[in-house]
Amino acid sequence: MRSRLVVGNWKMHGRRPANEALLRALRSGAAFAGAPECAVCVPFPYLAQAEALLAGGPIAWGAQDVCEHPDGAHTGEVSAGMLAEFGCRYVIVGHSERRQQRGEDDARVAAKFCAARAADLVPILCVGETLAEREAGQTEAVVLRQLEAVAAAAGREVLAAAVIAYEPVWAIGTGRTATPEQAQTVHALLRAHTSPRTRLLYGGSVRAANAAALFAMPDVDGGLIGGASLRADEFLAIVRAAAVPRAHAGGERSWISG
Ligand code: PEP
Repeated sequence: MRSRLVVGNWKMHGRRPANEALLRALRSGAAFAGAPECAVCVPFPYLAQAEALLAGGPIAWGAQDVCEHPDGAHTGEVSAGMLAEFGCRYVIVGHSERRQQRGEDDARVAAKFCAARAADLVPILCVGETLAEREAGQTEAVVLRQLEAVAAAAGREVLAAAVIAYEPVWAIGTGRTATPEQAQTVHALLRAHTSPRTRLLYGGSVRAANAAALFAMPDVDGGLIGGASLRADEFLAIVRAAAVPRAHAGGERSWISG
């Protein structure tokens, strides 16, 4: 079944001395028996620092975006092959901040997903509706449109090995978290359109105080954590919440990998 996963998204935060303290604290704090899989997605310039400080430990690292092209005249872009050279395991694609601020559409996100896969990176595909879309009753249609664009480009079977993060846009960085039931409703929909093996993360103002209730939901396999990933104590408390097995998931403890 699915192993639990907690991923930090540092966004455009960090400076080398502060990063070092944070990465060292995470490395030692996440090394406990039964810990879930953990990763941090750092800004591009800090990938080498993450690699140097995390290699051989319990925390993987990755990037927050990737170019859809493998090489070439794309000034300012970073390819999946380059990320792989820095030991990245994960890369976020389709984060709502990039969809909204950089105009990334479904086709471009799907191309980035395919580029990540081609370099043996695990893409973390973000999907989620805005508040206006939720209030208009369009949540299901929006997340399925975002998902199906990737399934069409990459093949549905590929989704089994991917990570999908449901991140309602209205919950990102706002302190307003989806209720566990709201998250589960969308995760159940995503489950029906992906695979029993697909890891489905919830993201949007996850904190130590609300993580356990979210992670208790049968189709919430972990979290994508923004603001709270910048504080070692908070992030590690979320990691510990993800280590607690669900009561029942298809008769098995679903965090056990296999
Ligand atoms: C994110 O940036 O993916 C995110 C979920 O942010 P926050 O946890 O700060 O809402």
